[in-house]
Amino acid sequence: MEQAITKMPHPIITETHLEFGRKVREFAERELAPHADEWEEKEEFPSSIFSRFAELGFLGLRFPKEYAGQNLDLIHSVVLSEQLAHSTMGGITMAVSVENEMVAPPIFRFGSEEQKQRFLVPMNRGLKIGALGITEPNAGSDVAAIQTRAKKGNGHWILNGEKIFITNGCRADFVLVLARTSPEKGYRGMSLFLVETDSPGFTRRKLHKITMRCSDTAQLFFDDCCIPFQNLLGDEGQGFYHIMWELQGERLAGAANAIGRGQMAFEAALKYAQERVQFGQRLADFQAIRHKLADMATQLEVTRQFVYYVAWLFENGQYPVKEISMAKLMASQVSCKVAEEALQIHGGQGLLTSNPVQRYWHDTRLSRIGGGTDEIQREVIARTLIPKAEK
Ligand SMILES: Cc1cc2nc3c(=O)[nH]c(=O)nc-3n(C[C@H](O)[C@H](O)[C@H](O)COP(=O)(O)OP(=O)(O)OC[C@H]3O[C@@H](n4cnc5c(N)ncnc54)[C@H](O)[C@@H]3O)c2cc1C
Repeated sequence: MEQAITKMPHPIITETHLEFGRKVREFAERELAPHADEWEEKEEFPSSIFSRFAELGFLGLRFPKEYAGQNLDLIHSVVLSEQLAHSTMGGITMAVSVENEMVAPPIFRFGSEEQKQRFLVPMNRGLKIGALGITEPNAGSDVAAIQTRAKKGNGHWILNGEKIFITNGCRADFVLVLARTSPEKGYRGMSLFLVETDSPGFTRRKLHKITMRCSDTAQLFFDDCCIPFQNLLGDEGQGFYHIMWELQGERLAGAANAIGRGQMAFEAALKYAQERVQFGQRLADFQAIRHKLADMATQLEVTRQFVYYVAWLFENGQYPVKEISMAKLMASQVSCKVAEEALQIHGGQGLLTSNPVQRYWHDTRLSRIGGGTDEIQREVIARTLIPKAEK
């Protein structure tokens, strides 16, 4: 059982983490995995999953009890992300990661007491669903190019613009939205808003995708959308910096999600290679296949150890931007490569919709795009290595 959490022991993984991991895995296998085919086909899992997560203590992991949190460390978040892969659906891990690692941290860190009570506490209790709205049709990797505009009206903010690819967007009760408040001020002219989805002027539509199919992805529209003054999160003009801070947790969660999925793909291939016989012997007895499996195990293990190490640095007060990007880049690439090889080892069986291996393959493809693409991670890393040229 511990093997599924980590093949090799790691000094930061304690018995408490292992115990938590066992609980997550058991839940994922018993209550989620049996519904995978149905929920993927419907492109939706039931919203009641959020309250079930809250009941089990899987929401608000890193926040104090007074905010309905679990008071646990970041390593628990990594273990949760990895072990949820046993659901066989990346979409559920992503939906929960968005709440735990993307929406909740900025509210906890920058929010007023009133905002924490109104948004963070009900979200941690599974009573409200949250989403994060940064990306726009014309501003993906280039976050600074966002055009959604917020202006002060009579007693409220008025938002106009559009967001795209927003996870949990169709069912969210509120969206944490990045908007431009002073266009002339560039990076210092953006702010964060807690937009309730019953606000006048807010509409949305579902997007259909080939990856993370059971997760809900939406396009959001703000058309003179009015929200109260008190829904500004943090300082006016600081939204870009608040979001850049938040991205670090998001990238780390993305790395852990990718490794969890890669591990599932690898274990499926390892099993199948020992069952399937061709030319009178098991696939696992052909050197070409044995070496593939050896490479997959090596790449996963080395990357997993690095992801844990970076999580430990972050947990212990460091702000390892370069290392987080390295972990996200490596984990995404490794999990895509491993899933691709796992599918190849399955032959035609791997392409059947009834086989979870095809899901690991198309779910993990998102890792190289969401939360900052591979190219953007490389830019972040390169910036720390290569000083700017003098002009
Ligand atoms: C399923 C899904 C869920 C998502 N969930 C959310 C969410 O909840 N909230 C949210 O705000 N966003 C979300 N996103 C958006 C995601 O973060 C963006 O898709 C991602 O940041 C990339 O932006 P883009 O798709 O606009 O690609 P683009 O930025 O247009 O990039 C296209 C290509 O150009 C490359 N490129 C861009 N700039 C450079 C450069 N400087 N150097 C080299 N190459 C470059 C990219 O790496 C990429 O390969 C989600 C996306 C998906 C698909």
